[in-house]
Amino acid sequence: MVGKVWIGGNAPIVVQAMTKTKTEDITKTITEIKRLERVGCEIVRVAVRNQVAAQALKKIKQNINIPLVADIHFDYRLALASIKAGADKIRINPGNIGHDWKLKEIIKAAKDYNIPIRIGVNVGSLEKRVLAKYQKPSAQGLFESITQTVRFFEDNEFTNLVLSAKGSDVSTTVEVYQKIAEHYSYPLHLGLTEAGLPLEGAIRSACALSILLSQGIGDTIRISLTSDSVKEVVAAYELLQSLGLRQYGPIIISCPTCGRCEVNLIKLTEQVKEALTGYDKPIKVAVMGCVVNGPGEAKNADFGIAAGKKSGIIFSQGKAIKKCAEKDLVACLLAEIKKGAR
Ligand code: SF4
Repeated sequence: MVGKVWIGGNAPIVVQAMTKTKTEDITKTITEIKRLERVGCEIVRVAVRNQVAAQALKKIKQNINIPLVADIHFDYRLALASIKAGADKIRINPGNIGHDWKLKEIIKAAKDYNIPIRIGVNVGSLEKRVLAKYQKPSAQGLFESITQTVRFFEDNEFTNLVLSAKGSDVSTTVEVYQKIAEHYSYPLHLGLTEAGLPLEGAIRSACALSILLSQGIGDTIRISLTSDSVKEVVAAYELLQSLGLRQYGPIIISCPTCGRCEVNLIKLTEQVKEALTGYDKPIKVAVMGCVVNGPGEAKNADFGIAAGKKSGIIFSQGKAIKKCAEKDLVACLLAEIKKGAR
């Protein structure tokens, strides 16, 4: 359990994100987490890089509704302070915590407060001795780092663990998670590290995570993006919905538009998406450019628009409801969705 959220076993794949704010800026951090909550983020991680940030966790936790994870690097004292401040889980990187006695202190505190620890190994911060052995970051190196750390935790009778080993490319990430899944039954947090800008990052992450999730590997995911963290959550749900693993919020299907289209379909689809952001019911909405595929797709969806000449037909539950001018299409569609929800 991470706070009230179950990870692993038969629980749904949990969607996580990480804030981009300085955690010690409590107001900004709470604001970002609230935005993440609105799009369905289920666990949020924040960077704890000093004692002020660790102390800020108390206030942040009081003002949010999802479990809070403290992300710790280098200084074991930040882990201890975060646990005391109420973190629901901590993530540590064994590669940079240092001496074993420091890890033992963290284990003791996590036991006392009964919270899980994620052992998060990253290709960019592998332990020096592992790097020296394998010359360069690799799936084998990541796996060895995880194995040694898990053994240490188990020797110290701590098994309330989540494991992750993120590479920055698809093949390394897939290979290491497959190895981990073969050897351990701990819940796995999946992700590709340093994935990139939204388009590149979402595609790279989807490539790696689709392979793993389709093989039943992975219990929680984060799609790291060099962008607004809200996009990480939206992308994560898009991926899970595409694989049929979760249903959250609307699925919008839209045609690519072509020379036959006589409305501004790109703008129209963006407006529909924007208007439905945060809507949590699992509906399918079609936004289509002309009569070729429009009526068919709009009928098959829960709600739809089949555009015509500067206008369009609104569909609801498979039936054509009314014709609207282009400028009114979004409002008409939303009114039907609202009616349908009632
Ligand atoms: Fe073009 Fe019509 Fe197909 Fe859209 S539905 S891509 S506008 S033919």
